[in-house]
Amino acid sequence: MNISDVQGTVTLHNGVQMPYLGLGVYKAKDGKEVINAIHSAFDCGYRAIDTAAMYKNEAGVGEAVNSHKLDRKDVFVTTKVWNSDQGYDKTIKAFESSLNELNLEYLDLYLIHWPVKGKYKETWKALETLYNDGKIKAIGVSNFLIDQLEDLMGSSDIVPMVNQFEFHPKLIQQDLINFCQKHQIQPQAWSPLMQGDLNHATLKEIGARHNKTAAQVILRWDLQKGMATIPKSTNPGRIKENSDIFDFELSEEDIQTIDQLNQNRRLGPNPANFNF
Ligand code: NDP
Repeated sequence: MNISDVQGTVTLHNGVQMPYLGLGVYKAKDGKEVINAIHSAFDCGYRAIDTAAMYKNEAGVGEAVNSHKLDRKDVFVTTKVWNSDQGYDKTIKAFESSLNELNLEYLDLYLIHWPVKGKYKETWKALETLYNDGKIKAIGVSNFLIDQLEDLMGSSDIVPMVNQFEFHPKLIQQDLINFCQKHQIQPQAWSPLMQGDLNHATLKEIGARHNKTAAQVILRWDLQKGMATIPKSTNPGRIKENSDIFDFELSEEDIQTIDQLNQNRRLGPNPANFNF
């Protein structure tokens, strides 16, 4: 990944440019809260937003995009099909419903939110149809482990362009990253900031040397490891802080030190045995 600035992109395997930094909006309230957060983010250079039907704030996300002076084509919007909507016909309907909530003409990226057993292959066929019809610029998955990716890829025409999964210093899953990179599936980190649990001596010490916060160290580490990342904040100061990561570089030693913090510890469910 060629890291340049807050608007820098990574090229997905179908040629689409995806900003490698985006704003996550899980738990941002629909209406003013999510709209203000997105406008703050756009104003300091972010160009990507990550939402999901399950977050119940697609209407606000769309309003934020449509009411900002940026052109639609300069903004990258991701949403996801929820588990209860999986299967071919239900996914097509869920997509139409999301697009309607968002009040947008097209989506940049549509993801299968979780790998629902027995359903994700049919769901993927629906995403392929929507993609081939030109309604989505790129399609991908979320929370897929290696065996689930292999299973999906073994019976489908299009390789997912993105896999979004839990990734932070306590959960690295280097094998999964390597698998994705080998197959040109762009990995993207969710809960990159460990959901705000940033009081960590090693990260703060590395930050102090670079005049940066623990959050900035982690987000820079994401990019230097080739991970796209979508930190969430609704606070304008922290939104700005999380984007101010393009004027320093972690050394190879810093990266190895952070890699060693791995505990294979999940904050969210395990995709191998989730039940919802
Ligand atoms: P994050 O790791 O991004 O952490 C967000 C928390 O950290 C919030 O409480 C925020 O509070 C706080 N925070 C943000 N920036 C800072 C900072 N600089 N210093 C101190 N605290 C900070 O957690 P999320 O779980 O929200 O993950 C990010 C995004 O990933 C989600 O919003 C969502 O879009 C996506 N996601 C996807 C999942 C999936 O299954 N595909 C699952 C979970 C998340 P405040 O807002 O007050 O700043």
